[in-house]
Amino acid sequence: MLYNRRMETQIIKINKENLDSIEMDEAGKLIAAGELVAFPTETVYGLGGDALDPEAAHKIYAAKGRPSDNPLIVHIAEYEDMYRVGRNIPPQAKLLADAFWPGPLTMIVEKSDNVPYATTGGMDTVAVRMPNHPVALALIRKSGCLIAAPSANTSGRPSPSKASHVAEDLSGKIAMIIDGGEVSIGIESTIIDLTEKTPMVLRPGYITPKMLSDVLGEEVIIDPGIIAADDTKKPKAPGMKYTHYAPKGKLTIVEGSREDVAAKIRSLVAEKKAEGYKTAVLCDTDNVKLYDDGVCENVFDAGTKRNEITVSAGLYSLLRTCDDIGAQYMYSESFEEGDMGYAIMNRLIKAAGHRIIKV
Ligand code: AMP
Ligand code: MG
Repeated sequence: MLYNRRMETQIIKINKENLDSIEMDEAGKLIAAGELVAFPTETVYGLGGDALDPEAAHKIYAAKGRPSDNPLIVHIAEYEDMYRVGRNIPPQAKLLADAFWPGPLTMIVEKSDNVPYATTGGMDTVAVRMPNHPVALALIRKSGCLIAAPSANTSGRPSPSKASHVAEDLSGKIAMIIDGGEVSIGIESTIIDLTEKTPMVLRPGYITPKMLSDVLGEEVIIDPGIIAADDTKKPKAPGMKYTHYAPKGKLTIVEGSREDVAAKIRSLVAEKKAEGYKTAVLCDTDNVKLYDDGVCENVFDAGTKRNEITVSAGLYSLLRTCDDIGAQYMYSESFEEGDMGYAIMNRLIKAAGHRIIKV
């Protein structure tokens, strides 16, 4: 079967006021008919297809250029559907769902026979999430399906935080894009594996390990594979092993005190500019003026650590902008502190291919 035929991609604008429109009905029908529809969630845009239809999963992998051993997250709108897709669901699942669903948390449980291996990338477990976005929930309900959806980007590109990013990557390859405006969180969901004795975070996100262990009343560990600075340990979430979020230019993170970091970045920029390269700087809102030296160009305000969601929400968009302007060397401050600092740095460090300079 060939999945790479070009098609007309319809783009519709949907918000809370027109959830009950003919266009939304059509979006639901497309999913039910085995087609792909990209839609907004609170984390990033998802590329949706019927989670119980292996053909739809194959189409998703083909459209994204994603390796088919990288499983998809199944999105549900009612908690009871957890029992349709999973089995031997541990008691922790209900506790976490009551606390965080709908929301940016994905749980890994044993898969039921209803879920095809195409959706789980051949695994006997399944990833499940209830997204906290009215358009996503309406699409699931209207389709009458459960929706398998990875991020709606071409594999290896930054995840999309607005519909235009999806169109850039997937126009002509999918049936429809639902434009529901910009997402609020901007980085992908936290993934927690509930199939082991001790719950394990496989991907950090808005929901922190501390928030999880507070609700569970037990220890939550972090997959050692996502902490390793090299490839010696394999992450448990297959998707975490791929070089994700890679911008076209070379990104380097500079860590240290505010003034030292700025001085180092200014000198690195001066050096690369003298060699004739195009550069960009990603810094905290509070530090923009530190790069106003007449040498630094393309200085981007990446949000502020004082309000971390301003950093996460725009991060991928900034990386895309760096690609668009043809930046060859990018230097970023660290955004390590705070609750979400760990999740933000997990994405930024990957985008930087682990290039970090400490000053
Ligand atoms: P994305 O939807 O693009 O955010 O990617 C989904 C992420 O969930 C990838 O990193 C997958 O490897 C991970 N994932 C999905 N299903 C499973 C599973 N059954 N076990 C472990 N990780 C999973
Ligand atoms: Mg992704």
